[in-house]
Amino acid sequence: SRRHRIAVIEGDGIGREVIPAARTVLDRAASACGFTLDWRDFDWSCETWKATGRMMPEDGIARLADHDAIFLGAVGYPGVPDHISLWGLLIPIRREFDQYVNLRPVRLLPGVPCPLANKQPGDIDFWVVRENVEGEYSQIGGRMFAGTEREFVEQTAIFTRAGTDRILRYAFDLARRLGRPHVTSATKSNGIFHSMPFWDERFAAIGAEYPEIRADQYHIDILAARFVMSPERFDVVVGSNLFGDILSDLGPGVTGTIAVAPSANLNPEKKFPSMFEPVHGSAPDIFGQRIANPVGAIWAGAMMLDHLGEAEAAALVLRAIETALGDPASPRTPDLGGTAKMDDLAAAITAAV
Ligand code: NAD
Ligand code: MN
Repeated sequence: SRRHRIAVIEGDGIGREVIPAARTVLDRAASACGFTLDWRDFDWSCETWKATGRMMPEDGIARLADHDAIFLGAVGYPGVPDHISLWGLLIPIRREFDQYVNLRPVRLLPGVPCPLANKQPGDIDFWVVRENVEGEYSQIGGRMFAGTEREFVEQTAIFTRAGTDRILRYAFDLARRLGRPHVTSATKSNGIFHSMPFWDERFAAIGAEYPEIRADQYHIDILAARFVMSPERFDVVVGSNLFGDILSDLGPGVTGTIAVAPSANLNPEKKFPSMFEPVHGSAPDIFGQRIANPVGAIWAGAMMLDHLGEAEAAALVLRAIETALGDPASPRTPDLGGTAKMDDLAAAITAAV
């Protein structure tokens, strides 16, 4: 029967709680749909860094390469600077495996309190596509005259034509695949002199290849306001690495708790493994109490199943999440206003699968 080899990095804090919980749900969906998930654990975390001075071994990337997907909890913990976990693990994985798409659904789920008034499940349902490997997040630049009055820093952003075109094309292809006729681009070409006019130019050029899809653009500032004031109007929103980063947290923010939001780092060509993770971090403030909401990790797992070609199982998991959250009698973790433990909510979702 079909098998998929999954590299698992639970990482730090509640990553160690929600990932095992999610695995149970995904295994149930796999057995219901007749395939096997072959999990291999990689115990890499801030603890590894404290013990060895590295977040992952020197051949870490090579050891992950031989998998169909990577399932990640969260990395980062108090006492270890965040740039260590980011540049020592997350960014190398994204870049070495050319995971140039970061994809996040923004969807109001039943039973999740929405911070916006009068919104029902179904009202808010769109996708944020973030460029994930170039743009503003670069190590190019430097600091001169450190500590003197002449001190300055320079930070360079890189927008290649190939990198820009492929993320824009992914956004339009996604809209076409989902039958959602509208792509919105985040820009700031009135203020950022070189990169954003170029981005707009490529957006117009790629958009012209998709005549049936309405393409529009907003400056990032007013776009952020529109996420809050009129989130119903979006289908697919595409942005550069920095703008996409901000929008892809703002989106889940307007639909309630970031604890339920998933994130996929995709190499759409499947030349390299893609990585799936909840949006939230290691939540040191609640780690150890087993009260973390497991839905973000479980939903990330559903996106992973979809990427692996197991659309039926992915849909099964998503429906189970909606069933469990939508049932007023089902267990609710404290972030959802309840008093249940993570394991009770995870069990309700497993049962719904
Ligand atoms: P966080 O997401 O860990 O926590 C923010 C708040 O949300 C906390 O109050 C936390 O208790 C709550 N929360 C988060 N996930 C939850 C869940 N599943 N259920 C219930 N409540 C939840 O963000 P932070 O505190 O800014 O970061 C903590 C550490 O995690 C930092 O070291 C940071 O670098 C790291 N981090 C890692 C990733 C990643 O691995 N991709 C992402 C974000 C943060
Ligand atoms: Mn972010």
